[in-house]
Amino acid sequence: MNILFAASEIFPYAKTGGLADVAYALPETLREEGEKVYTVMPLYNQIDRDKYNIIYGGLTFDYWLMGVRHQFDVFYKEDNPDEIFIYNPILCNRWGLYHDSYGAYGDNGLRFGLFSYSILEVMIRMKLEIDVVHVNDWQTALVPLLMKTRYHLSQKTVLTIHNLAFQGIFPKKVMNELELDWDRCFKFNGLEYFDNVNFLKAGIFYSDYVTTVSKTYAHEIQTARFGETLDDTLRINSYKLRGIVNGISTEVFDPKKDEFIEKNFSIEKYEGKLENKKLLYKELNLKEEERPLFVFIGRFTHQKGVDLILDAMNLFRSYEANFVILGSGEDMYNETFENLIGSYENIHIKIGYDEAFSRRLYASADFLLMPSIFEPCGLNQMICMKYGVLPIVSKTGGLKDTVEDYTDVYEIEKSSLGLGITFDEYNLFWFNHAIAKALALYSNRSKFEKISKHNMGVDNSWKHSAKEYLNLYKA
Ligand code: ADP
Repeated sequence: MNILFAASEIFPYAKTGGLADVAYALPETLREEGEKVYTVMPLYNQIDRDKYNIIYGGLTFDYWLMGVRHQFDVFYKEDNPDEIFIYNPILCNRWGLYHDSYGAYGDNGLRFGLFSYSILEVMIRMKLEIDVVHVNDWQTALVPLLMKTRYHLSQKTVLTIHNLAFQGIFPKKVMNELELDWDRCFKFNGLEYFDNVNFLKAGIFYSDYVTTVSKTYAHEIQTARFGETLDDTLRINSYKLRGIVNGISTEVFDPKKDEFIEKNFSIEKYEGKLENKKLLYKELNLKEEERPLFVFIGRFTHQKGVDLILDAMNLFRSYEANFVILGSGEDMYNETFENLIGSYENIHIKIGYDEAFSRRLYASADFLLMPSIFEPCGLNQMICMKYGVLPIVSKTGGLKDTVEDYTDVYEIEKSSLGLGITFDEYNLFWFNHAIAKALALYSNRSKFEKISKHNMGVDNSWKHSAKEYLNLYKA
């Protein structure tokens, strides 16, 4: 099969969240299975062309919209020409991907509309023979609409929703900027959304298949509680909606060879994990080595349960445990955490995005806190398990599908899922209850280690899910 996989971010070139991890790992796995996969992403200014050997591909073209000329330059990776990058100044010539410190860029509709056009122009101009066009999230969700209403292309289209909270909603003037057909496209079963346009909504209606990143989330988003106002759209299109759980890259997240961590380790050489923790405690000046380490790694947004973490700070300080919080996100949360830095002896806070530090945290931690309000799939809980960590998660979306509560399991070895602690109700009482459960488990060292080692061996690779995508492509 020949697949064109388009995304607005792909690891390691540009990443703001899980989408980039998926957009790296799924195409890689499909390639390993013998499929031909072209990936297409914007060549943002922040991407280091020399470091990644990204070179000009000899193709530059203009595309005119409403009398305005837009120029696109096509690049590719020298050692893999199937990794394609597109440069256009409006799309790429700024430092953030979607926003800066003032908020979302005001021309995101135009920017990603241009990207969507360029994906199809590249496919046609490079004469790529494609069976399936797989797009991701709102940034590329216009592609199926353009294919059907403007280009009249018949390749199968798949749209994956990585997070329904982000939909690409813009004032309807973007219809003109992008020369979209008002009669055909500005309607309920298209782009129209409360007199604005909604790119994701159009993607849902115009794609042949819509997938989301876990089975539970595929059900949840059809309800008013999780549907982010598109639950009716999703119910109408439920016949083509599938839930396929994400995997994680076992190449990138492997404590045996992870270059970011101080001591590599494995199930057999488990002592390495303890050494990492010792070194981290020393580095961060955290006391009492025998204490368990709880970490939070993620975006500071309401979705990730950051409010619950803040509410629990006063409880954390009273536990005989250490906590490290790594994240960045909304200004309000950044400031609140910033003000708390240094306030508690047993809580270390670092604000920012730091891949290397995050790996050292995974390598050292005993428990990962992930009290999300909703979670389409979540990668952290799977990543941490590879490093022997037990996730503490709310029972929602992909967290529900990938983490089993250790007290629900009779024989640890026989569980195919990773084990941790789960809680049903999103409130401080049950969150605190889950942490108390973790502390009790930690005091039974041999049981804790048994679960930790079990988690390291659990298969959350892309192998199974890539097959499910392939079956869908072939359906
Ligand atoms: P999201 O909703 O943000 O996409 P996921 O759990 O799907 O959440 O993916 C998050 C990814 O981003 C993981 O690889 C995680 O380790 C990484 N990550 C999140 N925040 C940070 C941070 N502050 N520093 C380093 N890595 C981070």
